Amino acid sequence: MVSKVVFGRGSFNQLSEVIEPKRLSSNAPFIFLVDDVFKGNAWLTARIPLSYDDKLYYISADEEPKTSQVDELVERIILTHKERPSGVIGIGGGTIMDLAKAVSVMLTNDGEAKDYQGWDLAKNPAIYHVGIPTISGTGAEVSRTAVLTGPLKKLGINSDYTPFDQVILDPELTKDVPKNQWFYTGMDCYIHCIESLQGTYLNAFSQSYGEKAFELCKQIFLEDTISEEEMQDKLMMASWHGGMSIAYSQVGVAHAMSYGLAFVLGTKHGIGNCIVFDHLEEFYPDGVKLFKEMKERHGIQLPQGICSNLSNDEMNTMIDVALGLAPLWENALGKNWQKTITKDKLKSLYSKM
Ligand code: NAD
Ligand code: ZN
Repeated sequence: MVSKVVFGRGSFNQLSEVIEPKRLSSNAPFIFLVDDVFKGNAWLTARIPLSYDDKLYYISADEEPKTSQVDELVERIILTHKERPSGVIGIGGGTIMDLAKAVSVMLTNDGEAKDYQGWDLAKNPAIYHVGIPTISGTGAEVSRTAVLTGPLKKLGINSDYTPFDQVILDPELTKDVPKNQWFYTGMDCYIHCIESLQGTYLNAFSQSYGEKAFELCKQIFLEDTISEEEMQDKLMMASWHGGMSIAYSQVGVAHAMSYGLAFVLGTKHGIGNCIVFDHLEEFYPDGVKLFKEMKERHGIQLPQGICSNLSNDEMNTMIDVALGLAPLWENALGKNWQKTITKDKLKSLYSKM
């Protein structure tokens, strides 16, 4: 679990106070990985406390993080600085936060990031790392994984060293998120709740967090009386609780299939989950009904026919990636999931998308 967290509008201003005691020496810099959407945005960047050898890298979130990108960043950091960094600070959405988590693990573990995609493969503790979300929903700020696309699979570095040592939750940082993206990433949280709450892995720990996040999502996406600021505050906490819920259970059908879309078509996580979830009435009837209400209410049009021009090979790869995520299927459908989820079944579902 994340050991330290600050919450509040404007709490981003505490960044210097929070990290300075962790500085190891004047040659051991803090590395800031910042979503390049903030390049030229002085409201945010002027408040990043750079001193000594500290370095800010702007990173595009147009594509999801790759293992090769983590390796390149780690190499650059090692070659640029005299000493191992004091810490890595990720400022952005799930893409940047996962990169920050992965870079901090790979700075202390030999080899390539692709070798650590899996569970509990990292041997050494990561360097100090801080997460500062600027968009809410993924739960990446609280989770035990850094999701990466590698040469063979999309799978996270899941380990006790992956979670952030410190998170700063400042809902004000999310104020300029574009409407569609707000919906897609917000729905990631909603889908985490549905998949966790309806899963066979559910226990009282994950249920208590899942129910809270689900309640918040209903207020945010369906109520009229809620103000913009309240929405930002509540979605940031929904994301946190949704992440906590899946930490002790699992996600389900939408995530398994969305990973297939991401691997073959590069479809990003939030929108990919929405595209899949829209067609999952048979698995999550109530959840999908409410999702369609939310979609309608916010005037969201999802892309259609994204799988219509796939070659046979591409379709098979997509199906194999989805089927490879056994724990997700087992959580969704129980131990005998393979009786219902066949290649043909997945093909017929993907063909509708
Ligand atoms: P993202 O980080 O990919 O960002 C989406 C878009 O929003 C980008 O264009 C980004 O530039 C923009 N953006 C972010 N903050 C903004 C702001 N304040 N103002 C304006 N634009 C802003 O989005 P995401 O949905 O948060 O993250 C998706 C990634 O998270 C995927 O790579 C997925 O695999 C990963 N993920 C990780 C976990 C985990 O537990 N580690 C869980 C779910 C998803
Ligand atoms: Zn998700």
